[in-house]
Amino acid sequence: MEKVVIIGGGPAACTAALYTARADLAPVVLEGEFSAEILPGGQLMTTTEVENFPGYPEGVTGSELMADLKKQAERFGARFQYNTVTRVDFSSSPLCVYVGDTEIQSKTVIIATGATARYLGLDAEKRFLNNGVSACATCDGALPRFRGKSVVVVGGGDTAMEEALFLANFVGHVHVVHRRDAFRASKIMGDRVIAHEKITVEWNSVVREILGDDENGVTGVILKDTQNGEERQVDCVGYFAAIGHKPNTDLFTGVLEMDEAGYLITRPDSSYTNCEGVFACGDVQDRQYRQAITAAGSGCMAALDATRWLEAQPTD
Ligand code: FAD
Ligand code: NDP
Repeated sequence: MEKVVIIGGGPAACTAALYTARADLAPVVLEGEFSAEILPGGQLMTTTEVENFPGYPEGVTGSELMADLKKQAERFGARFQYNTVTRVDFSSSPLCVYVGDTEIQSKTVIIATGATARYLGLDAEKRFLNNGVSACATCDGALPRFRGKSVVVVGGGDTAMEEALFLANFVGHVHVVHRRDAFRASKIMGDRVIAHEKITVEWNSVVREILGDDENGVTGVILKDTQNGEERQVDCVGYFAAIGHKPNTDLFTGVLEMDEAGYLITRPDSSYTNCEGVFACGDVQDRQYRQAITAAGSGCMAALDATRWLEAQPTD
């Protein structure tokens, strides 16, 4: 019987592992086996430079940061395994987590399975990822390659508005590409975007193709008018997908409470889920901030909550 099982391998899971390991709880960390859906180390493994994680004044690559976080947790006894959780049973104690047919029993489970940015599905999104294509303006918007140049943001929700307004601080011009003639975003955010002198909204438009080459990365997009089918080219050096994220919670459908978008619901100011002994942290329960440092911070919260929950249980 384990005391703590952590599902995930990103900044939230590693921080939860560090804290529970230092509390002598010898956590087992199931960070998944590499596949189309699963990425051990989490989302930062898909990026190059991380410039906004405190403690790295010169910046750090995503993979180096994750290696450091993992090493720090392992130093205190966290046990990482490249295993993908395929099923959970939280209906009674002990809690059960399954990797295929293998059952792992634990007193507590910390869920840190993250979220996945959605892209349109164009081949060029993969080809130019980190070479002009991004799904995180907060992370990449201030990079030199975008400064003073034109960029495209795809989407009409609050994320797209926020990203466009943020980018307008650095870039020369932002084109917001939206497939309809009205934003889904809140009126106040939409109005700010429409009124901004450095932002043009490309209404009723979809991105048909991203242009570029391996040396320069993104150089433009071909937009298609959804009403008359006409196509036009917009020159740009950046393409930011802002069409939403998908939290990795299919595993917990019918087991844990989620909001309408599938994010796990935690009790206010805590990481408690609706199941006793089950805690959630990181992007899987955060539709608002979705940063490595906030994921790490909530991983710390989940570890402290799990530790205190264990301490409060009657000893057997
Ligand atoms: P994730 O990092 O998503 O990790 C989730 C983990 O869960 C993965 O290891 C996965 O393998 C595992 N998992 C999922 N399902 C299972 C399962 N069934 N069984 C076992 N394991 C499972 N943030 C910043 O602060 N600065 C940046 O510069 C920055 N750049 C970014 C660049 C890109 C391209 C992207 C996509 C994101 C970026 N972010 C950045 C955001 C940041 O990466 C996330 O906020 C952060 O990684 C979230 O951490 P997490 O631990 O909650 O989840
Ligand atoms: P949303 O689901 O709200 O919006 C996604 C947008 O992307 C929609 O405009 C949608 O178009 C568009 N879209 C989706 N799929 C495609 C596609 N295949 N092709 C073209 N366009 C597409 O996601 P967000 O990430 O914007 O927001 C998620 C939640 O987080 C919301 O509740 C939002 O309010 C909240 N949020 C709040 C913020 C704030 O208050 N400051 C900041 C950021 C997010 P369509 O409208 O036609 O469906």
